[in-house]
Amino acid sequence: MQPILIVQGGAGDITDSRVPGKLTGIKNSIRIGIKILENGGSALDAVEQAVRSMELDENFNTGYGACLNTDGVAEVEASIMEGKNLKAGCVTLLHDIMHPISVARKVMEKTNHTFIGGEQAMNFARSQNFEVLPQGSLVTENAKLALEEFKESQAKGLDTIFSPTELDKKSVGELGETVGAVAIDVNGNIAVATSTGGITGKIPGRIGDTPILGCGTYADNEIGGVSTTGHGETIMRYNLAQRILQGIALKGVSSQKATEDTIKEMTQRLIGTAGAITIDKKGDVGIYFSSKRMAWAYTQGNQLIYGINPGEILKEDL
Ligand code: ASP
Repeated sequence: MQPILIVQGGAGDITDSRVPGKLTGIKNSIRIGIKILENGGSALDAVEQAVRSMELDENFNTGYGACLNTDGVAEVEASIMEGKNLKAGCVTLLHDIMHPISVARKVMEKTNHTFIGGEQAMNFARSQNFEVLPQGSLVTENAKLALEEFKESQAKGLDTIFSPTELDKKSVGELGETVGAVAIDVNGNIAVATSTGGITGKIPGRIGDTPILGCGTYADNEIGGVSTTGHGETIMRYNLAQRILQGIALKGVSSQKATEDTIKEMTQRLIGTAGAITIDKKGDVGIYFSSKRMAWAYTQGNQLIYGINPGEILKEDL
């Protein structure tokens, strides 16, 4: 089977000045991941490494550069899943850890559990020899600025995150930019990884869709894999990843149609916006977002196909 990797760098209201950094980061990520697949590596290794490269990159909302909660803390969370045995690892409320996706993978591989959160997840990370960085190491100037702006808008009475209404729907889901990757390897195994700092100005302890299976991440070799991004409170109530896969499985539609239709239905019904990347078991990809922008990329032969604006498809050599 021809291996395929697709990555996303977050759905949101990405300003023009941030577009080049996002595109460079997303291309970097796909080049790292596809090398693993082309050398016969596993989908699981490819998605983990693709996500790790974006966790290091401050252009994305996880690891270094993650969004801040109201206390100014970067609380990060992630999930990883493989579609052969439906095994998964999820972590939430980690701080000062650069690679939450790798902690999630350890939960999957080294414990009998699927989801660990908070200080106990920090202890687990320590027990697995993850470096806990000095407090505040993931906090960037841009993230601080975004929090200040959020607090100013709150002071003016604009609740743009937690209570989506018709009036503020333009703003919903525009403050985060999660990262994710979906891959199918030569053996037809599918894996998905998603990692995030959540949304700016979240209440400390808030958990989003990203570490929740069926919402931010899902992989099933018998159907496909999905990684989502956008307004977490909306995505988790809609079970977005699972609904996209059910569209493929039950309605028999393409990855693209299932991804597009499900996101449109969600935004129509619940207002919040989102984006998703999908690969079905045949290796067909689906990409769609109802937000203003979402950076995405995948490879086909020696071509790298990518975009960030609605309907945009750019190509270059790998
Ligand atoms: N889905 C993430 C969250 O709500 C944010 C994002 O994807 O931008 O936590």
